[in-house]
Amino acid sequence: MPDAIIKIKHMDITYNLGKENEFKAATDVNLDIYNEECIAFFGPSGCGKSTMLYCILGVLAPSAGELLVKGRNPYNFSPEEMVQFQTRTIGIIYQAFYLINSLSIADNVALPQIFQGVSPSKRRKWAMHLLKRFDIENKADVYPENLSGGQSQRVSVARAIVNNPDILLADEPTGNLDSVSTRQVIDALDEINAKDKKTVIIITHNAAQLAIAHRVFYMKDGKILRIVPNPEKKQIAKIDKQKMLVTEMEQLSKIYPYLTQMDLKVKSIVNYLTQDLTFDQIIRLEDAVKIIIEGKIEKENFVKLITGRLNEGGANIQNNLANTMAEKIDKVLKQSEDVTRYRRRFEQNMFYNKEDVLIRRLTGYLIDEMPGKIDLIQHRKLKNLVYARIGGLIPKEDFLAQLSAPAKDGGVGLPFSLADKITRYYEKIMTQGVAVADGGH
Ligand code: ADP
Ligand code: MG
Repeated sequence: MPDAIIKIKHMDITYNLGKENEFKAATDVNLDIYNEECIAFFGPSGCGKSTMLYCILGVLAPSAGELLVKGRNPYNFSPEEMVQFQTRTIGIIYQAFYLINSLSIADNVALPQIFQGVSPSKRRKWAMHLLKRFDIENKADVYPENLSGGQSQRVSVARAIVNNPDILLADEPTGNLDSVSTRQVIDALDEINAKDKKTVIIITHNAAQLAIAHRVFYMKDGKILRIVPNPEKKQIAKIDKQKMLVTEMEQLSKIYPYLTQMDLKVKSIVNYLTQDLTFDQIIRLEDAVKIIIEGKIEKENFVKLITGRLNEGGANIQNNLANTMAEKIDKVLKQSEDVTRYRRRFEQNMFYNKEDVLIRRLTGYLIDEMPGKIDLIQHRKLKNLVYARIGGLIPKEDFLAQLSAPAKDGGVGLPFSLADKITRYYEKIMTQGVAVADGGH
């Protein structure tokens, strides 16, 4: 288990404490944020997102509970320690940029280094390096008023990381930006997280931006409502699988609201196949998976496509891995046809029951994924669960819980890891079995 870089326990934040206009903006907040995570706070205006960020930044003391950043409570710092904390440990960018109008762009970026005693020539060199990185070096010697919103925000990103802090906070950083500038700023934050290995915490209103986060913290009325892991990111925090929400398709569609159902299916399959592939390989694999899901190529050509070299449009995947992938996809896609058939009848209100041939077949597919045998009673219980899940009578969590519960408690009695594997496999088949409106089969 990694160490939490930020730890918050039973925290309340009350504005105007003891006064007539007292207002509790955070109530019993508990959370851990791990080193190198990207976290998004998401929720309606006024729910307490900025309040959380200012508290972590060390400018708004909690009225109850505990905050630890890198194991220390910043509200116990001496003034000198606090300056160091807010320059070397933590950086922040705001929606409104807050650049200093009387300083040039390069000086704005270099400003926090003055407190570190860095010489003017070194400051200039480092500022230029960062401006170049964010593609604004040609603005180094002009003043903030001459910059567009997107350029200003990239300058403030550069300024926030000039002292190489461990944590970068971003409070609605794209709230004032057009879509192109928004993309650039989000890409910059993503890169600071993924390449520079910094912990990034972003507040956003825009669901599309949740894609860069490992986990999304949904807030409402000063509380953390739920924490949703992004299934597309390799998780740093240990995730309690039983707490994962709804179906994978719904989860993916929350994180990628702009993607079509077909694209979500592709992501679901690629997520199932990939372990240690690079980003470039995954993109190529997605292209190939899309074609096979659409039924435009067969297994053999899929293998040819993904074993090809990157510079020739392939995914550079080893032969035996490519063959395993092709087998897995083929099986999931074939088996998912029974889900499609079942749903079609379900939607037409045709008669069906637990003895339905499709339910029996789907149950068989899951048994095929198990290493050992199950007895007749287990088989019957499994079939009931398969039926209940596909009909939407129970959520995924209940399916998993009943698969792993001991027989004496009415469960199927599978070991948890096997129950988890079977649950995920069934969700895969169901995801592929959803008919898509935008082409496909
Ligand atoms: P968000 O960032 O989610 O929009 P905020 O954290 O800014 O929300 O604010 C949460 C709540 O706290 C809001 O109801 C807001 O009116 C209130 N609030 C924020 N700042 C203050 C303050 N300085 N004094 C009193 N109430 C405040
Ligand atoms: Mg806010």
